[in-house]
Parts: sequence; C-alpha cells; structure tokens
Amino acid sequence: MELWYTEHHSDYVHFSLKVKEQLYSNQSDFQHIAILDTYEFGKALVLDGCLMVTERDEFIYHDMIVHVPMATNLNVKSVLVIGAGDGGTIRELCRYQGIERIDMVEIDEMVVEACKEYLPQTACSLEDPRVHIYYEDGLKYVRRKVAEYDLILVDSTDPFGPGEGLFTKEFYGNCYNALTEDGILVNQHESTYYDAYVEAMKRAHHRIKETFPIAKVYQAHIPTYPSGHWLFGYASKKYDPLTDLQEEEWNSLELRTSYYNTKLHRGAFALPNYVKEQLNENE
Ligand code: SAM
Repeated sequence: MELWYTEHHSDYVHFSLKVKEQLYSNQSDFQHIAILDTYEFGKALVLDGCLMVTERDEFIYHDMIVHVPMATNLNVKSVLVIGAGDGGTIRELCRYQGIERIDMVEIDEMVVEACKEYLPQTACSLEDPRVHIYYEDGLKYVRRKVAEYDLILVDSTDPFGPGEGLFTKEFYGNCYNALTEDGILVNQHESTYYDAYVEAMKRAHHRIKETFPIAKVYQAHIPTYPSGHWLFGYASKKYDPLTDLQEEEWNSLELRTSYYNTKLHRGAFALPNYVKEQLNENE
C-alpha cells in the first residue's frame, strides 16, 4: 500500500509527499510531532500537520534566516533564538566564530529530543558550548530581557497554536527592548499566497513597522512551504540590510553556503509588485 503525507495549504490546494515510513509520532503538551521518511525530500519534521523542515530543502530557510542579518552586522556577539527546535538555525549561527553566546528558547523539549534522534543533519550543533537551551514560552522569556541581544531570530511555527503570541505587537515591543542599540530582529514571516497566510503576513509586517524604525521584508523559494514562496521579516534599530551589508567582509569569511550569497541578499529584498501592494509599500 502506498503511503502519502498530505498537507492542506488552502481549502482548495493540498500538497502531498510520498512517504517511505513514519519514524516517530507523539503528542506533546503543545502539539503533535511526527517525523516521516519521504522519497523526494528525505526525513521531514511535521508539527500539527505542518511541515517544518525537510532534509532536502532546510538549507534554504536556515541560510536565509541566519546569514542575511549576520552579513548586515558581523559584530553580533549575543543571539536569542526563539523556537528552532530542529537545530538548523543554531547550526548556521555556530559557524560564526565571533558569536559568543546563543540563547535558544524552545517551548517544546520533545521536538528537540525527536530532532536529535532523527534529524542529526539539523540538530548537530545543539551541544556547542556557546548554546544555552531554555524550555519556555518565548513570549514570556523575552518580557524579562532588556538590551541583552544583538540579534533575535524568531524561528517559530505559524501564528496559530503555541506560535500565536510570537506574532503580536506586545512580543515585537519586548524584542525591541531586549535588543541592544545595534539590534536586529528577523522572523519567519509567512507566505504571499493563500488568504490565511497573507493576512498573517500583513498583520505581522504592520506591527513590526510600528515598533522598529527600519522594517523590511525579504523572500526565498522554499519548495515544501505553502506556495513555495516564503517571506522573512527584517527589523532593526540601526542597520539597513542593503546599505549596511558587509559584502566584502562576509565573503572573506569563506563560509560555504548552498543558497545564500551576498548578491542574492540584495535581490531578496526586491519584492514582486503584488507583494509590495500587500504590504502597502509601493515606493
Ligand atoms: N522552520 C520552521 C517553519 O517556519 O516552519 C520552524 C521550525 S521550528 C521546529 C519551530 C519551533 O517553534 C517548534 O519546535 C515549536 O515548538 C517552537 N515554538 C512555537 N511556539 C513557541 C513559543 N511560543 N516559544 C518558543 N518556541 C515556540
């Protein structure tokens, strides 16, 4: 019998992957966790029926959430990562020798344990001595922090279930307070297609723009995410991701990346017209 994983991207669009076998399935206090072995995309982490990472295309998301802000300010020393239980974002951050401390706040320990066992490709740097893992709601954690981090990465689930609070104005305001004067915030910013995602994306951008003097959106092509066209939100107190890009310095680090490069960095901020209209940014 053939086994297929099917995800609902809209009421009228379903996305399916042929599955070799289900390796793990468990219900935590926060969500249903599954790990599947698929034919085309390798092993995949699924939370509450949404694909989070697959072995084959995770590099795109993790390159873009980490290297865009890092190439904008290579002087980052202290990083807060919210969510990111699969470890891919931590893996990319750990490649920067200059980073001294990475605090990862993940609400669900069971996600981390499952990924350590089944997704060593992403969970490979969680034991780095600079990484400190806290099992807590990121929304509550960030309330207690003032001017502590140079970079905050919000690598969360979508704005429903446990991730909902991470798309609120209160959360963005607390991130602003938790950042130093050089601070940069990057969050996964949903999709440009399918009404449910577009509305979430517009709301998030509006709230971030009300909170930070610099607020932009950039894009990447991620085959297994709804519509394949995914956005990230970039916000900062000081650094513009285009005029402050440290192109030569970043290239001199000679980090090998399969998706990110500094030319793509510039291009990623050039949004299609219909997305600019969605964001009310037609300049
Ligand atoms: N790359 C993924 C994506 O955009 O689909 C995100 C992957 S990562 C596994 C998302 C993590 O965020 C999950 O492990 C989830 O438990 C965690 N998370 C959700 N809400 C959270 C919260 N309020 N505080 C901390 N972590 C949270």
